[in-house]
This record gives sequence, C-alpha cells and structure tokens, in this order.
Amino acid sequence: MSNCIFCRIVQREIPSKIVHEDDVGLAFEDINPQAPVHILVVPKRHIESLDMLKEADSSLIVHLILTCAKLAKQKGISSSGYRVVANTGFDGGQTVSHLHLHLLGGRAMGWPPG
Ligand code: 5GP
Ligand code: ZN
Repeated sequence: MSNCIFCRIVQREIPSKIVHEDDVGLAFEDINPQAPVHILVVPKRHIESLDMLKEADSSLIVHLILTCAKLAKQKGISSSGYRVVANTGFDGGQTVSHLHLHLLGGRAMGWPPG
C-alpha cells in the first residue's frame, strides 16, 4: 500500500531506526516514544489491524509476538517486565492502519489504560 506509513517504512521510503528485520517482519523505534523502550513490530505484508487477521496468519502473529520477547531480552527489560499492545480500531486508539505491536518497557506502567 503506497500511502501506508508503515509499508513505506518497510520499503525504506521513510527512514526509521530499524532494530530487527526478518522475512516476515520489521521492528523499529517509535518516533514518539512513550517509555524508555518503545519499539513497533510490524508484518512486512500490509494487514490493516488485528481485526483483519485470518486463521492462516496464526504463525505470523506468533512470530511477531516472539520477536517482541526476543527484543525485550536484547534491550534488557525481560526481568523488569514489559508490555505488548496492539491498539485496534477507533476505540482501541489505533492511528496507523497497518497492524503493529508496541513493545513498551523500561518503566512501570499503570493499569487500566486511560
Ligand atoms: P497506534 O496509535 O496506531 O497504536 O500507534 C502508531 C504509532 O506509530 C504511534 O506510537 C506513533 O508514534 C508511531 N508512528 C507514527 N508515524 C511514525 C513514523 O513515521 N515513524 C515511526 N518510527 N513511528 C511512527
Ligand atoms: Zn501498510
């Protein structure tokens, strides 16, 4: 999708601080970090949101979740803890319509979200 920010980041048309790449996914630092560690993990293929995932995407979403866990280890926040979030749709606060997991850590986070 040529007008999708995250597709353009995947294509290197928009610069980003990439921290991980593999066949199916890309991880890069959020431009407006909400925690000392704030990384976005996205599928390379354009999928609008969690709501659009199909049964056939099961291995893809597991892979992206495991990528978050690996990056948490790399960033040294595994033992202190972290949060993985997929904002979905309007009420979920999703602002970019390309599926992404936020990996947040490095500080204690409140619950429930506002
Ligand atoms: P959402 O609100 O959809 O859950 O999250 C979108 C996230 O993408 C936000 O945290 C926002 O800061 C981040 N973001 C938006 N545009 C860009 C960009 O061009 N580059 C990067 N690295 N992050 C972006
Ligand atoms: Zn996209």
